Amino acid sequence: MRSFVHRGQITKVVFGTGTRKGIADEVRALGCDRALVVCTPGQTQQAGEVSELLGPLGVATFDQATAHTPIAVTNKAVDFARAVGADCVVAVGGGSPIGLGKAMTSRTGLPHLALPTTYAGSEMTPILGETHEGTKTTRRLPQVLLKTVVYDVDLTLTLPPDVAAVSGLNAMAHAVEALYAQGQDPLAFLMAGEALDALAAALPAIVRDPADQEARGTALYGAWLAGTCLGTVGMALHHKVCHVLGGTFDLPHAKTHAVVLPHVIAYNAPAASPAMARIGKALPGPGPARAIFEFAGRIGAPSALRDLGMPASGIREAADLIVRDGYWNPRPVDQDAVRVLLERAWAGEPPLSASVDPSDPTGAPRA
Ligand code: NAD
Repeated sequence: MRSFVHRGQITKVVFGTGTRKGIADEVRALGCDRALVVCTPGQTQQAGEVSELLGPLGVATFDQATAHTPIAVTNKAVDFARAVGADCVVAVGGGSPIGLGKAMTSRTGLPHLALPTTYAGSEMTPILGETHEGTKTTRRLPQVLLKTVVYDVDLTLTLPPDVAAVSGLNAMAHAVEALYAQGQDPLAFLMAGEALDALAAALPAIVRDPADQEARGTALYGAWLAGTCLGTVGMALHHKVCHVLGGTFDLPHAKTHAVVLPHVIAYNAPAASPAMARIGKALPGPGPARAIFEFAGRIGAPSALRDLGMPASGIREAADLIVRDGYWNPRPVDQDAVRVLLERAWAGEPPLSASVDPSDPTGAPRA
């Protein structure tokens, strides 16, 4: 008889094609009629279309959302929202505008709706990451959960295939860590497995044919599930590594996830058999770590942290930071192991084979 704790989600999710056309009804359903649209400078066109769909309910657009949610940008957006008398925020885009919407909700209480256009999954989580003077902090705040998420597959058709590939691997990383999360939430396990199946099938199809609407829909479905996993259960070593690398060396978010994931899977494999079996079902092949590594290569994702701008001299510093704060992982984490993992990820080497010495209680893979 197993025991577990499951936290349900309160966010309304609308999924499909053309669903953005119902955005005004969704704003009205929340009792709002003065929406502020937020986006990055690169997505003003899609945000403009959403503003048009909002009609008189759209009061203004703030187009300066930035990766990692700098507090200075949030303060500017909050002042702007107050100046225009906004009563809700509608984020159009990926994790950057959605992060801004959450930061605004945390300061103003304004309800937040989003039309996600990447697979990062932030729209389904109570996690707020913010940057202040170069330092990124991340908190779980139930009050920043979105009220409504409108997934419209059409909005993802413009996501370039190389960005779709790494964003999809970012989503797969949420699913992988949900499979071995502390507490073993069975619903999260089911969602994570389904997310991996969907993304494993869809990402190569998108890279082959970026106009494949069916594949775009399957990838977005997988991203929703993976994001829900991220919002439901705690993450482990992989997310810790990516958080430190992103915050310390300003590495690009999704690409960093793509590079690091096979190495963390290899590290955790000896301590997470059911998770590894489920990854193997989604990606059959030479063991889950190697299968993800080869999959990432096939869809054109980068494989080396050095190609993302990480200096070799940063490996030791990163290993220190990663082990500094205690956090849960299925396999105990020590500095030497993390350093070896980072060295391989930095150089673009394949993950260590999960050939394990059975007499070693830590499950350390053989070198
Ligand atoms: P992003 O939102 O910065 O988007 C990446 C780039 O792609 C941007 O230039 C954007 O304009 C462009 N883009 C997005 N969708 C597009 C589309 N459909 N067509 C064309 N261009 C498009 O990146 P992201 O990877 O979605 O999010 C990364 C950020 O989200 C990071 O700051 C990360 O920390 C955060 N994040 C937070 C959580 C959370 O739960 N708090 C989860 C995942 C990511």
